[in-house]
Amino acid sequence: MALPPLEHITYGPVRSRRLGISLGVNLLPPGGKVCNMNCAYCQYGWTRGTARYRGQGAGWPTAQAVERAVSDRLMRAAERNEMLDRLTVAGHGEPTLHPEFEDVTTRLCALRNRIAPRLPIAILSNSTTAGWAEVRRGLEMYDERYMKLDAGDPITYARINGAGGPASSVEQVLDGLRGLGAMTIQAMFVSDANGEIDNSTDGAVEDWLRALESVRAERVHIYTLDRPPALGSLRPVPTRRLREIAGHVRAAGMIAEVFAKKK
Ligand code: SF4
Repeated sequence: MALPPLEHITYGPVRSRRLGISLGVNLLPPGGKVCNMNCAYCQYGWTRGTARYRGQGAGWPTAQAVERAVSDRLMRAAERNEMLDRLTVAGHGEPTLHPEFEDVTTRLCALRNRIAPRLPIAILSNSTTAGWAEVRRGLEMYDERYMKLDAGDPITYARINGAGGPASSVEQVLDGLRGLGAMTIQAMFVSDANGEIDNSTDGAVEDWLRALESVRAERVHIYTLDRPPALGSLRPVPTRRLREIAGHVRAAGMIAEVFAKKK
């Protein structure tokens, strides 16, 4: 069963091994996933209809509405002395598709500076829009950028991430990531019971490592399925293999952390 879409702009705090205690911010319209990718492992199910493009359709929260909601929630957190490790922009889809992404980010940074100056502000992005000028200016304001890169060759990339959308060839993604500055690459490894999808093979990992080196990634988060995926035949990759992949990343001079499937 796919996760239901989020109903509000703020959510959580969500506890995760990767991000600690994270207060979530959802910039997507309520009621359904909006993403320009269609990952086979997506916890929100398949991307439906035309909910794929920047600013398309109704219901996007305005920059002012986001500012109000996050301000109220941060004030409440301060009053209650809530422990938070970061403010994380993510939500049920790709947050950089918000039509006022740069303005929203400017407002969130100002709020954080005023209400919770020690709270890092992070974003989870699928990386497809990192080369778009306005999105890039927004991305550069975050303290922490978690950028998706699950494959380095076009065939594996298309199979696992569903491709489609305007900026989604793997080369375009790599061009967008180059020069972005410090970032953590997030990579989900999965295989498919039908043998059609597997980004953990030696060949796929070699291409992915070359892609990581070409974008000068410093830190890489390696993980596998922990929630029901869109494609029911997907399987998690064994922890042993995730550790081997992490070993290759370290041998190439990058920091690698493995987040294995919970028991
Ligand atoms: S990028 Fe994220 S939200 Fe979009 S389809 Fe992939 S996993 Fe789902």
